[in-house]
Amino acid sequence: MYDLAVKNGKIYRNSGWENNNIYIRDGIIEEISSRDLEARTVLEGEGMKVLPGIIDPHVHFALSVGNFCSADDFQSGSAAGLYGGVTTYIDFLDPVGKGSLVKDALDRRLAQARISHSDYSFHVTAANPVGETESLTDEALRLGIPSIKIFTAYSESGRRTYPAELEELLSLSEKRGTVVLVHGEDEDHITSDPQFGPDDLPGSRPEKSESSMVASLCDMVNRCGGTLYMVHTTCGSSLISARKILGDKYGVNFFMESGAQYFLLNEEHLKGDEGYKYVLAPPLRSLHESETLKKEIDTLFSVGTDHCPFLLNEKKKSLLTRIPFGIGGIEYSFPLMYTLFGDKIIDKMTINPAKLFGLAPRKGMLEPGSDGDLFLFRDGEGKIKGTGHSRCDYNVYENYPVEGQVEKTVLRGQLVMDQQSLTEPEGRFLTREATK
Ligand SMILES: [Zn+2]
Repeated sequence: MYDLAVKNGKIYRNSGWENNNIYIRDGIIEEISSRDLEARTVLEGEGMKVLPGIIDPHVHFALSVGNFCSADDFQSGSAAGLYGGVTTYIDFLDPVGKGSLVKDALDRRLAQARISHSDYSFHVTAANPVGETESLTDEALRLGIPSIKIFTAYSESGRRTYPAELEELLSLSEKRGTVVLVHGEDEDHITSDPQFGPDDLPGSRPEKSESSMVASLCDMVNRCGGTLYMVHTTCGSSLISARKILGDKYGVNFFMESGAQYFLLNEEHLKGDEGYKYVLAPPLRSLHESETLKKEIDTLFSVGTDHCPFLLNEKKKSLLTRIPFGIGGIEYSFPLMYTLFGDKIIDKMTINPAKLFGLAPRKGMLEPGSDGDLFLFRDGEGKIKGTGHSRCDYNVYENYPVEGQVEKTVLRGQLVMDQQSLTEPEGRFLTREATK
């Protein structure tokens, strides 16, 4: 007797669809076949698509920034994710400059993450690790979190990592198989002014700050090798130039992530009375760049939400210096991206991040031996309603049309979300190994 079966669904497997049944025991997929077998819980998949649980490689739950804390903690953020088919996510440790501080940073986040309803891992975050790149890499690997994020901006808060250390991290990545995640804005092109408001944001952190940094990052990868993963790419032209500069190394040493906000929203949203709602960094771009991003979708590696919403009363300020940066989106990432791109988006939200970040074959695929993480998706025209299950009190995607909805989500063989109700399962911390 199996614990759970999904019968007669259209299953997404090996980048295609097949009509089959899935059988799960003790949290693991044991059999995918046309046989009709018994299970304690049987989900009827007729008329639905059955997909591997979404992996969101970029979220910020319970993130403290200045006097603010992001609206979703690990409980509400993971719950919102499960309503959107996200069964695994990767958050970040607080920035540290020394390898010896990574363990404490991990322990602090693990304590906060105990209330998570879905499975999770973290990326180490480095802050100006002069003389410490090797110890950071060693600690990250030792603790089962072989991915290190750096910022090329934010020197004012001490978070910036400079080119010499980034090159060292890349060389170490080449040798040890770690992934270096880069928040890529060129600080030389960023301007600030205490009087700036939301509509000044695109000008103060212009497209040039990304294109210039992309050129530098490609150059570094060409010299040092390693694996560089550029988070929240905003401009379609960045994908084009990275591909041109890197040639065969694009998609081998260099990977680009973007999120629904950069496809669906643009700098026009920052104008007008409600511009504060759309304040995030890097900022929303021109309509032209978001259209280019859509055209370049085939060369985008992955989708990460950068989920980091704040409450309306925290956002509703006229000066940028007083507005916490970030918006939400984990619940709607898949329906929105699927509506835009159809089947071609699925790998970018499942197997691609799973492989790069050392979660496959356990996560990101429907195969015997993998965790029983999946969701049932019903095609059909609809609209995003209200604020969803995030604690944030506004939703930038409210009333957006979607061509389908997540009806049921299964985590390690347990039906955890069924038609708008959640069983509040316990998430697990996933240790990972370097993938090279
Ligand atoms: Zn982020």
